[in-house]
Amino acid sequence: MIQPLTCPVCGKTPDPTTGTQTSPFCSERCRKVDFFRWWDGRYAIVEDLAPGGALSELDLLDAQESLQPDDQ
Ligand SMILES: [Zn+2]
Repeated sequence: MIQPLTCPVCGKTPDPTTGTQTSPFCSERCRKVDFFRWWDGRYAIVEDLAPGGALSELDLLDAQESLQPDDQ
C-alpha cells in the first residue's frame, strides 16, 4: 500500500501527473518556499509568486537587506 505523499509546505497531495519533478512538494513554488525557509533560517512570510516570478522572493530578500540600518 502506497501512502499518499503530502506537500510539506502546504499539505496538499501533489498531483501525480505534475508533481514528480517537484516531489515531495506539490509544485515548484512550494519547493522554492521550502528552500527559502531553510536558506533564510526562519519561517518566511510567503506571498504568492507571480507566474514565472522565481526571482520575486530573491528580490524581497534583497530589499530586506537594504532596509537594515547601516549607521554604526
Ligand atoms: Zn505545496
